[in-house]
Amino acid sequence: MKILIVDDNPDDRTVLRYIVQSRGHEVVLAGDGQEALTMASAHRPDIVISDVLMPVMDGFQFLRRLKQDARFASTPFIFYSASYIADQDRQLAASLGADGYIIKPREPSELWNDVERIIAGSDKKKSVIGELAGEDAEYFKRYSQIVAAKLEEKVLELEKTLAARKLAEDRLREREAFISNILETVDEGFIVVDRNYKILSANKAFCRFAGLPEDKVLGQPCYKVSHHIDRPCFEAGEDCAVRRTFATEAPHTATHVHVNVEGVEQHVETRSYPIADASGNIVSAIETITDVTEKKRLESHLRHSQKLEALGTLAAGVAHDFNNILNVIVGYGGLMEMTMPKDSPVSPYVREILTASERAARLTQSLLVFSRKQHAEFKPLEINELVDGMRKMALRLIGEDIETIIILAPEMLTVLGDCGQLEQVLMNLVTNARDAMPDGGFLRIETGHLIMDDAFVHLHGFGKPGAYALVSISDTGTGMNAVTRDKVFEPFFTTKEPGKGTGLGMSIAYGIITQHNGYINCYSEPGKGTTFRIYLPLVKTAFPETEGLKSAPVRGGSETILIADDDEAVRKLTRELLEKHGYKVMEARDGVDAVKKFADNTDKIGFVLLDIIMPRKSGCDALEEMRAIKSDIKALFISGYADEVISRKMIVEGGVEMIQKPARPVELLTKIREVLDT
Ligand code: ADP
Ligand code: MG
Repeated sequence: MKILIVDDNPDDRTVLRYIVQSRGHEVVLAGDGQEALTMASAHRPDIVISDVLMPVMDGFQFLRRLKQDARFASTPFIFYSASYIADQDRQLAASLGADGYIIKPREPSELWNDVERIIAGSDKKKSVIGELAGEDAEYFKRYSQIVAAKLEEKVLELEKTLAARKLAEDRLREREAFISNILETVDEGFIVVDRNYKILSANKAFCRFAGLPEDKVLGQPCYKVSHHIDRPCFEAGEDCAVRRTFATEAPHTATHVHVNVEGVEQHVETRSYPIADASGNIVSAIETITDVTEKKRLESHLRHSQKLEALGTLAAGVAHDFNNILNVIVGYGGLMEMTMPKDSPVSPYVREILTASERAARLTQSLLVFSRKQHAEFKPLEINELVDGMRKMALRLIGEDIETIIILAPEMLTVLGDCGQLEQVLMNLVTNARDAMPDGGFLRIETGHLIMDDAFVHLHGFGKPGAYALVSISDTGTGMNAVTRDKVFEPFFTTKEPGKGTGLGMSIAYGIITQHNGYINCYSEPGKGTTFRIYLPLVKTAFPETEGLKSAPVRGGSETILIADDDEAVRKLTRELLEKHGYKVMEARDGVDAVKKFADNTDKIGFVLLDIIMPRKSGCDALEEMRAIKSDIKALFISGYADEVISRKMIVEGGVEMIQKPARPVELLTKIREVLDT
């Protein structure tokens, strides 16, 4: 059989055609009633299956016109249509001569069953012609009612479809906004580049990195935006992750130095991922760009402090041993001076030896300060007072062609510090500023306070959150280049002529400030001057001031003193000095020996003089054990250096005093007497 299928929807046409053809029938297709009439004339179908609502000419009109043609009066006609107002539809269809009305959608097999059933039925009433086929007035009345109703239904349906589509579109837009929001919010730069390295898409972070608006980024090659060059960066030797992704179709990472539009370098880590089109070809790549400049800065700051730490350990080791030697020189020199007749001809030589030793002692002292092995006396002090107190000294130091401005913060800036040491830091800084301004300039010292937060720490690469007093010292001098700036805190680094600079000023400042749990850093550019900033942790509550040491005349005594020192020369010297001043002396060569001798002679020994660092047992531990034997034992530490731990623990809590090597004889004797008499 030949079947004419009329439907304006190509999908429906295809389904119907398939159903019909698969049953071995021939198919003629038409998209609307008008076309169907032509096809019917040309092909003489045996059956017509038609949709109802169609453009140009709908199914009812088509049926009516067809039935008016005698050739098709008995051709079975089946409507296959979605139902809106089924009953009226069916009635009009039947009155126009339709043989059946199948409601869409229908399963293919059921549909065909329906078709066969309708054809079988139509055979019986083959000659019946539609009652309305000839009656215009009644036909138009019913037809227009139905079509109007149908159209209304259709409009409603379309409105529903539109609403659904709008909802779907809204959802899609929301989703897109959600995704783009994520991309816009993250700190990572994000671009999509095609195989020519042209940027197809970029997020805000990327534009921010580049320092360019989006329209200056999109469509540009990535090497132009990120490196400001006219050919791919890998041709200039860069390791390009995107290039490797295009070559291998796999994700890759690389590190780069990007340069933004202002010429600022950014260390970045890039990752790229392939994007394939529908047929699986890699057409573009996603590249994410993470700014690691800050990470690098933190790393470099850490490396810098580690280097200074290592130098400190080395310097402290040398200074410690050297101090023992100096101790002997100063000690015997002092003894010699004391015992020598005033008019001895060698007296000036001894004086020279002692002066030189004092210079050497100052040097080792500097190294100990740098390495934070120097004993410091922390007391609450006012930064404004300290700075103000330096005013006169600073003015005298710098001369007239340098104008000094001192600006003090209105608030109290109390820190826990060693006044002498902090003064030394300021002096060193002022001296350097003066040296940097041989032709005059401005020196500006300013105090203030600052809250260090996480953001500060991140930005600067150093610090611990908290409240700090800030002292900044700026000069308008020569400034420093990057190399000098990098080494400024290293001991013995100087750019000054031999004899002019020792290279110790800034390393001492560094050591002192670090020992104060503070920070010192420097901002400087050649020709633009220098600013050093010192940050010292502020204390909230003030401590009562402890009284300074009173000076006492040199006096000896008759007590028995146990001296413990692992350096034999030091022991020998001390014994001679003490014996000379009336004391009885016992010696111990380390901590263990000292405790043993003390235990054996507890009643005799009235005083112990302990080196802090000794083999087998430290001076601190030895003293603790002796105290267990006799709790009120009088003691004094003597040391080449004192760790913070030692100074804090024993000196603050244990109330034990300490004297620094090399100790001048008078100093040592005075201190011993002082401790004995308290
Ligand atoms: P010294 O002053 O003996 O050279 P420092 O440790 O005090 O040693 O300083 C080390 C070096 O740091 C100086 O030689 C100088 O190059 C540089 N420097 C320090 N402060 C300044 C400054 N205010 N302006 C320029 N350069 C400075
Ligand atoms: Mg200096």
